[in-house]
Amino acid sequence: MLQITMPLNFLGTVYREIRQALIDMADMFGLLDQPPEVKDKPGAPALQVRQGVLRFEDVEFGYGDGRQILKGVSFEVPAGGTLAIVGATGAGKSTIGRLLFRFYDVTGGRITIDGQDLREVTQQSLHEAIGVVPQDTVLFNDTIRYNIAYGREGASQHDIETVARAASIHRFIESLPEGYDTQVGERGLKLSGGEKQRVGIARTLLKNPPILLLDEATSALDTGTEREIQGELKAMGHGRTVISIAHRLSTIADADQIIVLDEGEIAEAGTHADLLDRSGLYNALWSRQAQDVGSLAAE
Ligand code: ADP
Repeated sequence: MLQITMPLNFLGTVYREIRQALIDMADMFGLLDQPPEVKDKPGAPALQVRQGVLRFEDVEFGYGDGRQILKGVSFEVPAGGTLAIVGATGAGKSTIGRLLFRFYDVTGGRITIDGQDLREVTQQSLHEAIGVVPQDTVLFNDTIRYNIAYGREGASQHDIETVARAASIHRFIESLPEGYDTQVGERGLKLSGGEKQRVGIARTLLKNPPILLLDEATSALDTGTEREIQGELKAMGHGRTVISIAHRLSTIADADQIIVLDEGEIAEAGTHADLLDRSGLYNALWSRQAQDVGSLAAE
């Protein structure tokens, strides 16, 4: 019996992990169908992150239907730096995220982390190095403890509470009659968008990745909740290399570097102040959003 149940349990764990990874990714990138299979090179070594310098070098990419989606995209995010990517829907922002995870291989140029081409290292090591915080964190029908601990195998209650505190959700959890044992998800306690994102932040803190990909593209949160979560997101970014796919400009104004993508090309790059001065695309996006906020406030 033991011989049979052990491998099955093991498979259960692996299956859950794969499923979760796929849920996170699919959720984040709106992938409906399975991406084409990208395979590790035989004998590929694990990615070694020493500093966390991320480079896109003249990256070209298309999904294989003849359309060129990214056209010579180059940028560097220094270790511990933050880069925000803005641009209209369809500009190619999420595609950059998918390439960073190597869901697809670039068709030209290369992407490196600390000088290592993503195509030369194992995908597992790449995925371990990058934490994703989607706006709409998917919860399992399980306890809140399980949902946070998901970020790392064998996490202790102490570790879990530490990250829950950092994500400002510990007090909320403690106020529940069953605390960390509270069942959440579809069949349990329904968490608000902001609470779910805090669970996502705690989960990622537990994973402790050197590189972070923040996805604001789905805009699942209202402006107020988004603002509340900014502090935790910012704190999480300290000492990590951060790429933020931004929807609302107000959330990325203090990024070290902002790139504006327009139909797969970098149209503008600089800091918030640089770009506002330039009266180009960013300036136009900013004014439009300021107007939208104004009209919402007037409603
Ligand atoms: P953004 O995140 O800026 O809204 P995306 O990176 O999602 O833009 O999309 C860029 C372009 O790539 C769009 O024209 C989109 O239709 C196209 N695209 C996205 N995913 C796929 C896919 N799986 N197959 C073919 N085209 C795709």
